[in-house]
Amino acid sequence: MTAVPRKDPAAVEAEVREKIHLEILKRTGAYHSNDHVLLPSGQHTSEYIEKTLVTTEPSFTEGLGAVIAKHFAQWPVDVVLSTGPGALILSHCVARAHPSRPVVVYGTKGLSRGTRQVTLPAEFQRLIRPGTKVLLVEDLVSTGSTLSLLIDLVEQRGAHVVGVGCLWRRTSVELDGKPVFSLVSRDFPTYAPEECPLCRKGVPLNEEFVRRRHHRKPSTVQEPKTQ
Ligand SMILES: [Zn+2]
Repeated sequence: MTAVPRKDPAAVEAEVREKIHLEILKRTGAYHSNDHVLLPSGQHTSEYIEKTLVTTEPSFTEGLGAVIAKHFAQWPVDVVLSTGPGALILSHCVARAHPSRPVVVYGTKGLSRGTRQVTLPAEFQRLIRPGTKVLLVEDLVSTGSTLSLLIDLVEQRGAHVVGVGCLWRRTSVELDGKPVFSLVSRDFPTYAPEECPLCRKGVPLNEEFVRRRHHRKPSTVQEPKTQ
């Protein structure tokens, strides 16, 4: 009889939790799996996440925010800081559930001479001072470049990053040695079209997400011009 290798119970639990969180994201319509998707880069993949849809269900966002808050509950937090609309919605839910009752502030993203930057609005500056304990919250972490900017912003003000909480992290991303807690850690395997196993199997290619980016304009309304 061959012994079945037994997994560490903590690892099994983490795996189950991750599956539950993935299911939740699937129900928002944000997460697509078992598909054959064309990415904006021209690569093909079987999974895709639509960032904008991740925080559309308030009860899901609240539940997921509470899980992140619970993870960081043992550390005092003065401020929860994020940037971008999705991350801000989530950071509200994290702060609401954290026992330290931290305040919620956000940085604004922009470009300065072609370089991406995050700026802290003047009204928030007195809230992040030397010694302030800051928890960073992000919805999806892909390259980690936004979080690096947030970490710099906090450290330049003499404050301290307690950790980073996020919904989704690409497993390969490292963040300056800061403790990162992610509900889902997944990297999508991507393939060049000529090496794509799904193309080889003849699975039809879903170009919806790339088309959406290029051709479907966001709806915009403008204030009528006053004469
Ligand atoms: Zn393909």
